Amino acid sequence: MRRRLEDQIRETCGQVVATSDPAELATAIKELRRALREHTQRMRKLIVAKRISPERRRTMPDMSQPGILCSICDMPVVLELCKADEEGRPAHELCYMAKLILEKNLSHSV
Ligand SMILES: [Zn+2]
Repeated sequence: MRRRLEDQIRETCGQVVATSDPAELATAIKELRRALREHTQRMRKLIVAKRISPERRRTMPDMSQPGILCSICDMPVVLELCKADEEGRPAHELCYMAKLILEKNLSHSV
């Protein structure tokens, strides 16, 4: 059974929060990064697919939107999936969630 990428990321976030073992934490963070990178690549493909869609072109003539970039991973954010971070900058929901968790963890481990 293939899990959804979002579920994988949420689960990995949970591991990051739950573990107090440095080795486990490092593994979980590595896994989180990998999952986020995969998520970003999927988003990018989605955006490319939307851009070349003739249907879209007809409904949105000459509206080459200025690219909205995620403030965390610097990849384009699909408008429907865009969330604002605490400073109101656009970010992927999952990036933001991961950032919060990582920050929380870093402040704990210092
Ligand atoms: Zn992002």
